[in-house]
Amino acid sequence: MRVRELVKSFEPYRVEEGDYPVRLDKNESPYDLPNWVKEEIFEELRELSFNRYPHITSMPAREAIADFYGLSPENVAVGNGGDELIRYLVRLFEGGYVVTTPPTFSMYYFYAKLNGIPVLEVPLREDFTIDGDAIAEKAGNASAVFIASPNNPTGNLQPEEEIVKVLDTGTAVVLDEAYAEFAGKTLWRLIEEYPNLIVLRTFSKAFSLAGVRAGYLLANGEIVDALYRVKSPFSVGVMTMAAVKVVLRHYDLVERRVAKIIGERERIRRAFREFTYPSDANFLLMRLNAYEFLLGKGIAVRKLAGRLDGHIRVTVGRKWENRKLIEALREFLEVRECG
Ligand SMILES: *Cc1c(COP(=O)(O)O)cnc(C)c1O
Repeated sequence: MRVRELVKSFEPYRVEEGDYPVRLDKNESPYDLPNWVKEEIFEELRELSFNRYPHITSMPAREAIADFYGLSPENVAVGNGGDELIRYLVRLFEGGYVVTTPPTFSMYYFYAKLNGIPVLEVPLREDFTIDGDAIAEKAGNASAVFIASPNNPTGNLQPEEEIVKVLDTGTAVVLDEAYAEFAGKTLWRLIEEYPNLIVLRTFSKAFSLAGVRAGYLLANGEIVDALYRVKSPFSVGVMTMAAVKVVLRHYDLVERRVAKIIGERERIRRAFREFTYPSDANFLLMRLNAYEFLLGKGIAVRKLAGRLDGHIRVTVGRKWENRKLIEALREFLEVRECG
């Protein structure tokens, strides 16, 4: 038996799996849920039948999310992480290829290729904003356009007027707002105006649930219905739905944590302003070739390549983790000066 060339060409998962005391590589929340919130989840679990399959279209979680936004559950789809939803969105719409805007989240490219769908790349401009006109020009024959805002790994929000240029083409636009809670700006309300807009969100970042695996999208009912026709029926379990319901009841906690993370983000940025891009997310893009040096200090960050060769992406951590990061990077710069 031979493994397909295409599969072999996918890079192995690049995140360091070693034992690093400071993990700033996956854009997770550095704060676990407090025990009192976990207890509330356990209470919910007690009432559930573990022997039964979960609701086939995840209605309990969709209702909780819909209530949170003041939408109807018909406008909400839930997945096993936002990741699972991307897997379907690359092939849900008719068209010859998907459009992505590198450097950006690699999963759009990954799932398109895995599904045999060509990818047309419209690179970000020098300042990492999308070129709405250039994308719109290519969008006509595309099945979908993927735009992350704030973008991962560059950290910046995309200008609304550029996004609207793409929306006006009528092609499906997946607006990935995985980091919206940190940006304080979201375009989800545009789903009322644009039936071709799909806003993707996740519980993995601001909501501290990366280990639980829950993501969702907001879109018009026809798209949600189409997605549920092709989605794996039981990929969102009863435990995941219970956790989602409970964390949404405690959004005030999420907001306090987001404020703390933003404060820390700006503290790190001030320390290395010369090398650090502004960020609207919970991570920073730094023009520092410090990946190996930091690993040696027990700090894992994300190493970037291609156009961002020589850059690292650093997740904002807890205060003591950020302190270690700042110390290590100061040392890196000193060594570099002397070397
Ligand atoms: C983290 C992330 C997601 C979603 O991750 P899940 O854990 O699968 O929900 C989606 N898009 C971007 C850009 C991300 O960084």
